[in-house]
Amino acid sequence: MKKLILLLILSFFSAGFLGAEEGIWIPVLLEQLNIRKMQDMGLRLSAEDIYSVNHSSLKDAIVQFGGGCTAEIVSSKGLILTNYHCGLGSIQRQSSLQHDYLNEGFWAASMEEERPCAGLTVTLLNRMEDVTDKILQGVDETMNQLQRTNLVKLNSDKVEKEATLGGRYEAKVRSFFYGNRYYLVVNEVFKDIRLVGAPPSNIGKFGGDTDNWMWPRHTGDFSIFRIYANKNNEPATYSVENIPYIPRKYLPISLGGYQQGDFTFLLGYPGTTSEYLTSYGVDLIANEENPLRIRLREKRLEIINAAMSQNKLIRLQYTPKANGIANGWKKMIGQTRGIRKAETVLKKSLLESSFQAWADSTSERRIRYGNLLSSFQTFYHHYLPVDRSSIYLTEAGQAIEIVRFASGFRDLVKLGESKEFQPASCQKLVEGLAKTSRDFYKNYNIAIDKQVMFVMLGEMKLTPEKADLIITHSIFSDSTRLLKFLGNFKQSDIKLLKKDLVYQLMLDIYNRYEKEILPEIKKYTVCFDSLQRVYMMALMEWQREMNFYPDANLTFRIAFGKVEDLIPADAVKYNYFTTLEGIMQKEDSSVYDYRVDNRLKYLYKNHDYGRYADRDGTIHTAFLASNHTSGGNSGSPVLNAWGQLIGINFDRNWEGTLSDLMYDPSQCRNISLDIRYCLFVIDKVAGAKRLIEEMEIIPSGNSQ
Ligand code: ASP
Repeated sequence: MKKLILLLILSFFSAGFLGAEEGIWIPVLLEQLNIRKMQDMGLRLSAEDIYSVNHSSLKDAIVQFGGGCTAEIVSSKGLILTNYHCGLGSIQRQSSLQHDYLNEGFWAASMEEERPCAGLTVTLLNRMEDVTDKILQGVDETMNQLQRTNLVKLNSDKVEKEATLGGRYEAKVRSFFYGNRYYLVVNEVFKDIRLVGAPPSNIGKFGGDTDNWMWPRHTGDFSIFRIYANKNNEPATYSVENIPYIPRKYLPISLGGYQQGDFTFLLGYPGTTSEYLTSYGVDLIANEENPLRIRLREKRLEIINAAMSQNKLIRLQYTPKANGIANGWKKMIGQTRGIRKAETVLKKSLLESSFQAWADSTSERRIRYGNLLSSFQTFYHHYLPVDRSSIYLTEAGQAIEIVRFASGFRDLVKLGESKEFQPASCQKLVEGLAKTSRDFYKNYNIAIDKQVMFVMLGEMKLTPEKADLIITHSIFSDSTRLLKFLGNFKQSDIKLLKKDLVYQLMLDIYNRYEKEILPEIKKYTVCFDSLQRVYMMALMEWQREMNFYPDANLTFRIAFGKVEDLIPADAVKYNYFTTLEGIMQKEDSSVYDYRVDNRLKYLYKNHDYGRYADRDGTIHTAFLASNHTSGGNSGSPVLNAWGQLIGINFDRNWEGTLSDLMYDPSQCRNISLDIRYCLFVIDKVAGAKRLIEEMEIIPSGNSQ
């Protein structure tokens, strides 16, 4: 038993000891924590080559894309590569039924044709710095969590203000290890980003939701943008005067490919992981939260997918929305399966037993940590009903599009009712709402939403039969009427809004959430933060000689591993790469997601692969590796030992999404687009030679 526990501890906190590639590390600490191990595994670079504040390094070529993805700079003129699914919203906003770039692809023939994407930003890290001492100044153990949080906020505000250098930079203090460490993150935010190129969806989204989160995979998941800056090469809002950004560093691209066991690493902006949750926390996710969310999303998707398959306009309008819903839905299914398969709850509770024994072994520890686990147990027991109600209100109530939309009108009602009503500020608000309304209706289908409302009202134990009545009589279901109403808006019209049935339903749902549930959640969050912070501290004290990595929190990170195949089940072995051959095998012209692009087929038939074929003579489309990634690493560059681009990360194997909660080296793989397939599509399928010429492409056999 003792041996088993030791093994468990090692497999949980293995990064410091074993060959396992677990870990989403902070690049600032590379020299201290990881570089020797990375070099032992094959890396040919120094820590300074990857992250440096003194001279240009790989960090200067990696950006956060649009707040939720990663992208990499691949030319001296600010050209960036990311995933197709990351660029999808921007591509869709440029599209219409006449110019359906989702279906047909988009390729700007010159810089003049590159399309500004309003609202899209790209964030470049300037530096990251440990500021724990400054942030915890004045904090002591007698404080309760709320007092602590308030002081931390005060100290953070001060540090952030100093770091912005009068507005040139954006600075944020971020918490790591649940408030045990703090880093200052200083960024430049670029606001003029233009769409350069995207393949048609039968390449960029090949396999659709059926293949999403799955291996073997053949999705050409990439899109191309460019960062523009002002004449001084500084971030600026869109202007015709802006010029392509000149980066301190861009990534060279290797045509050399990879072999099983080759070292790879990856940089980027992973979003959220929870590796240090207790067994109670994982149990809640696997057995309560995920099943409920999955069920509610399934109902919504059934309605939307049926409508999309019958109508071209609806497909164009709802593709990004359906993607968002389905992406989370399918991930939760895989993750739940992964948790069960890896017996995560059991393993965590065994680990907790030995933690408890350690905590009870001295009286000083017993005082500090002895009751921690039982407090967690009580916490989750009380939290469960609040959590459930919150999920119903967000995944069912706020899933009704028109309800979410109507919530934007609350400010208008508030203003209209206030004693200090001012026509000028009202006018501004009304104009803003008119603009949001036009955007909303462009991608809105009332028949779909009515069905969603019917189902979701039922789920919330409200009267579904009312859906018809509510929608029919509401001003929100008629865009012309609503815009006219806004155009002639007078203060007395507030009455009309307040009587509106959609508005009333919205108030019911939002009030319940914001007034009843949210305050409860906030209370629980304070309690959770406090427990989890102490638990994290205790784990680090217990396993002093281990290197811990902090959970992902959308800050800049590095992960490293090997190109590696996967054995997902007894007698099943997945090869570590896929080829064009597989696209042809999956072809089914009667299924939208499995149509094969004609030009691609032509090139395949003629074996016209140019310099992009592997030495085995085929085009490799995607590959597997054991880099620890998460959502937000979409678009991350996958690099070889010399720091050359060999792939673009875009997914994980289904059950491997367990890695957000526990990394299992035998089951967790990241999925990357082979950069040679990406270049093949740009060059041979789209004929976008000007882009190929712009990049630094290193022929195979020349990797250094
Ligand atoms: N496909 C994921 C994303 O959308 C990437 C991942 O979670 O592995 O961010």
